[in-house]
Amino acid sequence: MTIAIVGAGLGGLALARVLHVNGIESVVYERESSRDARGQGGMLDIHSGQRALREAGLIDQFFAIARGEGQDMRLLEPDGTLLLQEDTPDDAPLDRPEVDRAELRDLLLDSLPEGVVRWGHAFTSADHGLLRFADGSSATYDLLVGADGAHSRVRALLTDARPAHIGQNVVEIGIPDIDRTHPDLATMVGRGNYWVLGNGISLAAQRNGDGRVRIGISFYHTAEDWFAASGIPFDDPAAARARLIDLLPGWDPRFTALIAACDDTVVPRSITSLPVGLTWPSRPDVTLLGDAAHLMPPVGEGANMALLDGAVLGLALAAHPDDFPAAVEEYEREMFERTSAAARMSADMQELLMSPDAARKLLAFFQPV
Ligand SMILES: Cc1cc2nc3c(=O)[nH]c(=O)nc-3n(C[C@H](O)[C@H](O)[C@H](O)COP(=O)(O)OP(=O)(O)OC[C@H]3O[C@@H](n4cnc5c(N)ncnc54)[C@H](O)[C@@H]3O)c2cc1C
Repeated sequence: MTIAIVGAGLGGLALARVLHVNGIESVVYERESSRDARGQGGMLDIHSGQRALREAGLIDQFFAIARGEGQDMRLLEPDGTLLLQEDTPDDAPLDRPEVDRAELRDLLLDSLPEGVVRWGHAFTSADHGLLRFADGSSATYDLLVGADGAHSRVRALLTDARPAHIGQNVVEIGIPDIDRTHPDLATMVGRGNYWVLGNGISLAAQRNGDGRVRIGISFYHTAEDWFAASGIPFDDPAAARARLIDLLPGWDPRFTALIAACDDTVVPRSITSLPVGLTWPSRPDVTLLGDAAHLMPPVGEGANMALLDGAVLGLALAAHPDDFPAAVEEYEREMFERTSAAARMSADMQELLMSPDAARKLLAFFQPV
């Protein structure tokens, strides 16, 4: 019985690993040509997903790469008012440590036998037990698991639902090697998360393990085509930085100094999500996990849910090795309930971030009276 997993992201790899430790082999088809083909982005805040890493037998290795100090948090208003500063004590439990996404993915990749991940296989379609790839090759499967992320192509086999824009557009920029290049800004940002929330705009800076500070500037209540009208010249990074500063009138000069210090990486990102509580009638031979199943606003649940999905599905298949349909139904029942709750929570947090006076509301969220 062949289990084919499409996508070597966190969810797909967690599934392959939990199957492997339970003596079940699988094949992961990934469209990227190698593990280093594309930058994996910044840090992830891993909390509930730790259970998946435990099931995968990788929790000690995870703690070795996790950054406890990444839990530090500073919350400010655009005029420079510091509302909250939380510094993580050295002996604090690693409840929600930050981890470099690439390091976490490497941990999972290195835990799999050679050849489980087939690089350079871009899935295009599947029917009657046959998978097809963009290069014209094909492979057979008994169970197909779509772990192919936000723009999943496997999803269409189960549902017509598509991600929809949620009124948020983000520009990602960053300062490399900040301790050396801008020590004053390094001190200001600190070891973890640095958030400035204004009305309709936020700036989120985060220190990464490699000394880079990644910055996301979010424009809320903006339409899907906002970038075209924004006047940000993405092909001219210096002018794009200048335009971003123009878009933050009245913001404290310390915040705009962060933008001025960035290098030439300027990436637009339109934020979409799937409907909260999405389900589909179970099929015996196809299922989904991770963003493919439940893409949520990016407020810290997606990677955790993807890891858990992989582990829960792996354990269900291990419990019913001769009955894939029963395993899929068991997995989907748990997954729909757990991820609907996470999606509702994420939607509520997103609403808070988009609301007037978001900074004060977030402060009240962290410090309820
Ligand atoms: C800026 C940002 C910050 C985030 N921070 C956090 C955080 O702090 N905490 C958190 O929990 N979540 C966070 N998330 C969300 C999290 O990154 C995702 O929810 C998580 O990566 C989903 O994992 P996945 O395995 O489902 O998909 P992905 O990690 O997207 O992996 C999908 C894989 O499928 C491959 N693929 C796609 N199409 C095909 C195809 N046709 N054929 C073959 N392979 C294919 C892709 O190349 C990729 O390797 C963040 C997201 C963003 C954008």
